[in-house]
Amino acid sequence: MSQTILEIKNLYVNYHTRQGDVKAVSNLNLTLDKGDKFGLVGESGSGKTTLANAILRMIKPPGYIPEGKINLDGTDVLSLSESDLRKFRSTSVAIVPQAAMNALNPVRRIGQQINDAFVDHGVKLSKSELNDRLAELMLTVGLRSEVPRLFPHELSGGMKQRVSIAMAVSLNPKLIIADEPTSALDVVVQRQVIDTLDQVQEKYGSTILLVGHDMGLMAQFSNRLGIMYAGELVEIGSSTEIFSKPNHPYTEILISSLPDTKTKRKLVGIPGLPPTLINPPTGCKFHPRCPKVFEPCSDLVPEKEIIDEKSFFFCHLSTINNGKVDKKIVGTK
Ligand code: SF4
Repeated sequence: MSQTILEIKNLYVNYHTRQGDVKAVSNLNLTLDKGDKFGLVGESGSGKTTLANAILRMIKPPGYIPEGKINLDGTDVLSLSESDLRKFRSTSVAIVPQAAMNALNPVRRIGQQINDAFVDHGVKLSKSELNDRLAELMLTVGLRSEVPRLFPHELSGGMKQRVSIAMAVSLNPKLIIADEPTSALDVVVQRQVIDTLDQVQEKYGSTILLVGHDMGLMAQFSNRLGIMYAGELVEIGSSTEIFSKPNHPYTEILISSLPDTKTKRKLVGIPGLPPTLINPPTGCKFHPRCPKVFEPCSDLVPEKEIIDEKSFFFCHLSTINNGKVDKKIVGTK
């Protein structure tokens, strides 16, 4: 039986602005099991990084969490004290950041930086134990054993990113959040970084939440996918099901934007721009851009359509397909 590691219930995250609150994450529900490789996809500004920061309790003012629950391996994340938060980070949840260069201290050797996390979390290692642990971590992420003696500027972008992965797994956390870890890397190195995450997951059995907008990388890595639009999870399912039969028009368009070398079909872009989240569109938030928009979409919020225990989506088309409403197409865009 699968073991739940992360459970998020009815989560909202807002940012105060002079014009009003930006509703960056709205009524979000998500469950991840042990060993899941979950891909969280969406355009920039869809709320992916805000969600990742909420799990890490890193939402800073003017951001705030008005409502919701985050439970990670039995810990109520939102009620942790500041001192418990320090222990919680790295041992329960760790992050592989977007830009490894900015995350590494330029004036400390890699080994010293990894050791800082051990010291900070009360892990006492002798010099030889530390060297063994560093060598094991380097081996896991495919780096040479001398890398701990180097400074960040002596490493390439891909090596730095693999060092970040080594740091993230150094205290064997239950959940690793990789926030667009391959941005700014070339495609060959992107593949190596994703393969490294795969190896780490296999070795430690960690649950990985990979945040990104590249459907190709997601297809390569994830066993489950969540599609975010305007602060909401609009579809969740197994990667195989979603790629073979997407239920939400937004998911469909994201998949159509992937090049296909076999059929050489025309690439389709997403019309329009993501909405402002101070005053999001009424009804289905995707309706101003949806090629399948019809009468109820601009007024009524779609209900959750459950496919199975772990798969659902939000779209009025399902109610049409179930014969509950008449389809009146009012426009295609
Ligand atoms: Fe498109 Fe309507 Fe479905 Fe929203 S509810 S995704 S507008 S068809």
